[in-house]
Amino acid sequence: MSHQLDTQVIHAGERRLEGAVAFPIFQSAMFETGPEVRYDDIRYIRLNNTPNHAVLEAKLKVLEGAEAALVTGSGMAAITATLLTLLSQGDHVLAQGVLYGGTHSFITEDLPSFGISHDFFDAARPETWASKLKASTRVIYVETISNPLLRVGDLHAVAAFAREHGLVSVIDNTFATPINYRPLEHGFDISLHSATKYLNGHSDIVAGVVLGRSAHVQRITHRLNHLGGCLDPHACFLLHRGLKTLALRVRRQNLNAQTVAEYLSRHPGVVKVNYPGLAGHPDHERARHQLKGFGGVLSFELAGDAAVAQRFIEKTELPVKAPSLGGVETLITRPCTTSHAGMPAEERRRLGISDALIRLAVGIEDAADLVEDLGQALEAVTPHTVGGRP
Ligand code: PLP
Repeated sequence: MSHQLDTQVIHAGERRLEGAVAFPIFQSAMFETGPEVRYDDIRYIRLNNTPNHAVLEAKLKVLEGAEAALVTGSGMAAITATLLTLLSQGDHVLAQGVLYGGTHSFITEDLPSFGISHDFFDAARPETWASKLKASTRVIYVETISNPLLRVGDLHAVAAFAREHGLVSVIDNTFATPINYRPLEHGFDISLHSATKYLNGHSDIVAGVVLGRSAHVQRITHRLNHLGGCLDPHACFLLHRGLKTLALRVRRQNLNAQTVAEYLSRHPGVVKVNYPGLAGHPDHERARHQLKGFGGVLSFELAGDAAVAQRFIEKTELPVKAPSLGGVETLITRPCTTSHAGMPAEERRRLGISDALIRLAVGIEDAADLVEDLGQALEAVTPHTVGGRP
């Protein structure tokens, strides 16, 4: 029987041990083994294959329709283990121009030391991609909704381009989650997540996920087993628990973010709002056709410089002043000081990430309360623009 995602997040992959409704934590580093077992099958926490990993992976693979899933010690562990499996010395990767700062730094600072080169491409302009291909290109890498400008590329075209040119297509689906986009159904080979964000949803663990065909996931698992980026059983338990409310949380966050984005876009003290759910967003039509929801993150700029943006952040009361996203609580940050602090300032400016850009990762609070709070903070820092006062 095939069920809707809302049912699958609850029931997929579950096992009842001793009748326990919640799968317990197996706090054991290693497990008894037979004499003939292969290295990757020895049950050991570093090998990400204890009962807590297995039950979690069984649920995760159903949520994105994958043959296999691997949970990892962080989103970056999922990203780095995947790229270091698919790419070797002399290879080339095509990566979307604006990416999460950690991924961008890994591609530009770390991969070259392994003899792996890269070029960036504009995921919204398929006509420009072929000229960036090299004989050594092996991988094309995108994010479903990019961080922090919320751009949505021509995702289906990326998967088709990869098939046409024999590349492995990899997508970071963190911002969308399987509720808003299921990349493997649209032809992507590998979907990655920082499960730290929406999949867990409670800002209390760091974790990652790799989803794809068994052959790919097995190779990545083998590499990760050497790199050591494992998830401990207690974090597996928390992620497993968090997943059960994924559909509820993400749908609420889609609604809340849309309400907040519309409010900000009408406010005279706000000069720019980046949210793909707004009709004026450059990728709105593409996002509408490809995604089931626009996600819970938006970014915006006020009339004023970085100091005004910082004052505004400090005046807000509900949002927690912290990096990251995907938790039940609204978080607010300036990407230039957190997620994209590692990127050279010049590069940030070239990509359109100004020092005054504010990112809001909307939680599941009451949307009217969030709007009221943002409104009072706006009034405090841009009073001349509110209510027609001089
Ligand atoms: N991918 C995206 C889109 C992110 O925003 C982040 C972190 O902010 C990561 C990956 C890295 O995940 P983690 O912090 O779990 O390693």
